[in-house]
Amino acid sequence: MEILAFGVQADEKPMIEKAFEGHHDVRCLEVFLTEDTAPIAAGYEIVSSSVNADLGGRVLRTLHAGGTRMISQRSTGFNNIDLDVAARLGLTIARVSYYSPYSVAEFAWTLATAVNRRIVRASNRTRDFDFRLAGLMGRDLRGRTVGVVGTGKIGEAFTRIAHGYGMRLLGWDIAENPACLELGMTYVDKEQLFAEADLISLHVPLLPATQRLIDAAALKAMKDDALLVNSSRGGLIDTEALVTELRAGRFAGVGLDVYEAEAGLFFLDKSLEVVRDDTLARLMTFPNVLVTSHQAYYTLDAVGQIIDATVRNVLDYLAGRRSENVLVPADTP
Ligand code: NAD
Repeated sequence: MEILAFGVQADEKPMIEKAFEGHHDVRCLEVFLTEDTAPIAAGYEIVSSSVNADLGGRVLRTLHAGGTRMISQRSTGFNNIDLDVAARLGLTIARVSYYSPYSVAEFAWTLATAVNRRIVRASNRTRDFDFRLAGLMGRDLRGRTVGVVGTGKIGEAFTRIAHGYGMRLLGWDIAENPACLELGMTYVDKEQLFAEADLISLHVPLLPATQRLIDAAALKAMKDDALLVNSSRGGLIDTEALVTELRAGRFAGVGLDVYEAEAGLFFLDKSLEVVRDDTLARLMTFPNVLVTSHQAYYTLDAVGQIIDATVRNVLDYLAGRRSENVLVPADTP
């Protein structure tokens, strides 16, 4: 059987082909799965989609009409999939419920230290043979306070790194993580965390309760020279409010791997188009802001685990086996 994989990055293609070797053929497409591209899947029983695919009702119906019966999404998140429509159509939907939390935690730490030590500005200067130091002063992290917002798998991995740097550990979560407590973390309310932390890193999921958790009031409560990192979901931060604070000269550094209006921008080459997003355009003008395009998970290890799970999902579907990765049909024990 031939599987059709959408949204495959050049680095991933050989990994996907190798993982399916000896099982099934796979056709890899660079284009993402959208209403426009869904008709390409006609005749493919099994389709694999990437994190930013549009798997709304219309796309699912197009896929179903073309003969698709199983979709294996290569991500943990599935907020892009209309599970109700999938269930009504009798589709099987699987995702990847676990992969390396270290990929994201290490990237969040990289953003924090990059903005703290002005690495991008330094690199731009030295490429220009400008070897001055003015404007490149950072701070030691040892002895300073980190505030970890969400201490689940990724937050815990991030806390371990901060602990290794000798930071005081503050956490905020609806549930305390024993491993973080063991590292010496103190759980506090979010107001205290915002007020005391020199580095704040966000690791809660995007839910109605966490939507714009970092609003104007939260930003104002933070130290003027705090470092703020978001590698979770863009909707956690009110970006307009962040721009207002940055314009006022606040924050030593801000690292953003996610952005609330990233859909239709991130993962794509927009370099030849007019920039229509004024907020993002303004964000890019601040020398203390570093924006990356949702690449925190993008390591050999995490992508390898995602691809291996995708192959397992396909083999499970064909063998009629259930696993914890299956979202639809819902488990009816
Ligand atoms: P997790 O489920 O292990 O941890 C989430 C933590 O958030 C839990 O400890 C939970 O108790 C806490 N939480 C949930 N609701 C809360 C609320 N209302 N208030 C306070 N705390 C709350 O998840 P994880 O694997 O650590 O992933 C965290 C997030 O990272 C994901 O939801 C996703 O948004 C993001 N992520 C980003 C990338 C990337 O490439 N940038 C990749 C993977 C995951």
